[in-house]
Amino acid sequence: MKFNSPGQIRTLAGFMSENLLMTSFYLDNDKSRQNKKEIAVSFKNLLNDGRTRLESMDLSKVRRESLLQDLDKIGRFGAQSLPVWNAAGLAIFACTGARFWEELALPRAPRNHFIFDRSLYVRPLTSMLDEYRRICALLLDRQEARWYEVFMGEISLLDSLKSDVPSRVREGGWQGYESKRIERHIDAHLHDHFKKASLKTFDLFKKNQFYWLFLGCKEEYRSDFEPLLHPYLKERLKGRLKTDSNNTKDKILKQSLEMERKFKAEEETALAQSLVSELEKGGRAVSGMKEVLRKLNTWEVQSLVLSRNFAAEGTACPKCHYLYVDEVRCPVCQVKTEKVQDIVHESVHAALDKKVQVRYVTPPSKLDRYGKIGAFLRYKV
Ligand SMILES: [Zn+2]
Repeated sequence: MKFNSPGQIRTLAGFMSENLLMTSFYLDNDKSRQNKKEIAVSFKNLLNDGRTRLESMDLSKVRRESLLQDLDKIGRFGAQSLPVWNAAGLAIFACTGARFWEELALPRAPRNHFIFDRSLYVRPLTSMLDEYRRICALLLDRQEARWYEVFMGEISLLDSLKSDVPSRVREGGWQGYESKRIERHIDAHLHDHFKKASLKTFDLFKKNQFYWLFLGCKEEYRSDFEPLLHPYLKERLKGRLKTDSNNTKDKILKQSLEMERKFKAEEETALAQSLVSELEKGGRAVSGMKEVLRKLNTWEVQSLVLSRNFAAEGTACPKCHYLYVDEVRCPVCQVKTEKVQDIVHESVHAALDKKVQVRYVTPPSKLDRYGKIGAFLRYKV
């Protein structure tokens, strides 16, 4: 299945088993940087590492059996399907004991990862999804309009429109009153066409909820068309596409992706800056793993902001599921806590459970000086 929606992450994050552990497997399958043989070697190494790790783990018979079957199944998948896997990334989530198996095609390469844990390791997916925005690219001409959706590195045609606008050909005899009348007639047609295009854009927005609107049209049409857009769309009108007579899908995609990267980087810088400003004025924000976990445990976090690839060890209470940096005993329940490999991953899971937004900042950034993690709070500290 292609990875392309937050719903898939929610399903994976919500998958639970009372007494089994789960396997999460990520493979960098980017063939522009490595050949098929190198990928096959990485795959084998990952699998061997997994096997070695499994042997050293202290597990009940049922747990071990299920994980061993996961490994076998992934091994078989590698032999059969890896040679024909085209996506830049592969993710497999398995818990054979609970009859769970899901393979996802990823739009870009992840880091190679093999993880056994109490829950499925979805953090790379949340980070990946956060890199992309749903974009509507509108190509507007005086008789035509085409709408494309650009999302996760791909482009598809959403809709198109053709209107009957007479062309502006001036002929010898047109002068004075008659010429003006014809011009007005053409302008009315053009206005009508733009009006239709703006309404259709709003319909598509209601259906697809795109984040940014990129517009490609002649400079002279902008001042006529843009005021016709619904206020929601005016807010989202972000980029201007260059247009020429043979705008192919590929060209539009390339331009859109370049703009997306640029705007996304600007957005991340602004996000890190607004967190730092809030922290400095002692407003509704905290930083550092310890403080963030404390606020996350007590449902006070509104959105989590973290540096991509940041990971750290921690502990979790098996009873109340509170997360800690280093508590050996849960201060709330007084029971012994369990060690977790990546507390940042656990905090992302907790955030997803609590419907808290998770946002990423690509390092280096201002977040680095604040423990690589921060949170906006619902209430003032
Ligand atoms: Zn507890």
